[in-house]
Amino acid sequence: MTNQADEHERTMAFAGIALGQIKALRQPASPRHYEVWYAYATGYNPSLNQMINETVARNGTLSDADIDEIYETYISANRFTDRIDQVGTQVMGEIEQVMAMIGAAAGSANSYTESLADVTQKLGHTKDNDGLRSIVEGLVQAAKEMEKNNKALEARLTASKSEITQLQEHLETVRNESLTDPLTQLANRKYFDDSLAKAIEDSFTKHEPLSLMMTDVDHFKKFNDTFGHLTGDQVLRLVAMSLKQNVKGQDIAARYGGEEFAVVLPNTVLRSALTVADHIRRAVMMKELMKRSTGEHLGRVTISIGVAQLRKGDTVQTLIERADNCLYAAKRSGRNRVICETDPEVSPATQTQVA
Ligand code: GH3
Ligand code: MG
Ligand code: MG
Repeated sequence: MTNQADEHERTMAFAGIALGQIKALRQPASPRHYEVWYAYATGYNPSLNQMINETVARNGTLSDADIDEIYETYISANRFTDRIDQVGTQVMGEIEQVMAMIGAAAGSANSYTESLADVTQKLGHTKDNDGLRSIVEGLVQAAKEMEKNNKALEARLTASKSEITQLQEHLETVRNESLTDPLTQLANRKYFDDSLAKAIEDSFTKHEPLSLMMTDVDHFKKFNDTFGHLTGDQVLRLVAMSLKQNVKGQDIAARYGGEEFAVVLPNTVLRSALTVADHIRRAVMMKELMKRSTGEHLGRVTISIGVAQLRKGDTVQTLIERADNCLYAAKRSGRNRVICETDPEVSPATQTQVA
């Protein structure tokens, strides 16, 4: 009882701190904000606290985008880990049960062998029919016992097999979710990081070209400020859809972070990557945005894109950096454009030769 009362006091104190922060920073008390601030109050996750402290020190508050980022990085990621741990525990439980059944079956097989040995010995001394009958009856009884155990084991193994298949499917779903960005359903940052590293390795081994596209929505802060974060989220979905519709095959479109997207284009030379990039840029620009709930016209959004092709000696970082430089050159030269390293807009220091 005391424990429960302690727990009540503790959680109420955390809740109080969380709400206090929300009030002090005049933030919406939405479940997501509350969850982030509650986690902060507990102090269980030092990296989350550090990120919040740094952001508040820098900007004086946490924006909705900051809350989303913190949530995605530290809270929803933990959920996946918890769920994976849960599946792990279930698999271990299943294995333990099967092992126990196998142990029991081995025990009954042993006692069957023992009764056989016993019977063989008795047969040697038995001279009358009655004795023989009782020996045979004993044998039949032991065989029946054995059969019963085998059947139970078989049933348990069949149940286990289907349980394990279900767990495997569940694990696959969790794995997919853990690599997908929940807002846009594109690959998330983790998936992007892993697949870019692998694509670079493959490109070097197979001597095939590889291009990378970095994309950023133009003046998105203003869009959010004018129409609200939720409408901004819808626009991010739309941009994601334009990306998805214009890439194919082995290309990987991912949400790199916030309002930034990236596309890995294996076996693609710079020129072809530029064509794809321009299709995406046009697709986004062409969309006349409308708020579904009110029919309000929101105008259009544009995106800027930087494209770079992998070259000898590149790493994940240097390739991203070069594509990013092109993206910033695109921003500097007026936005709503695609820039690559051979374009004059990119400063000569960062320009590189592509094979
Ligand atoms: P620029 O053309 O130079 O890119 O200007 P910008 O306003 O897009 O650039 P900046 O980096 O200053 O702002 C990015 C904004 O994107 C900040 C934030 O409001 C918004 N943002 C980031 N992530 C999300 C998100 O998940 N949802 C929504 N709605 N907005 C986001
Ligand atoms: Mg940005
Ligand atoms: Mg932007």
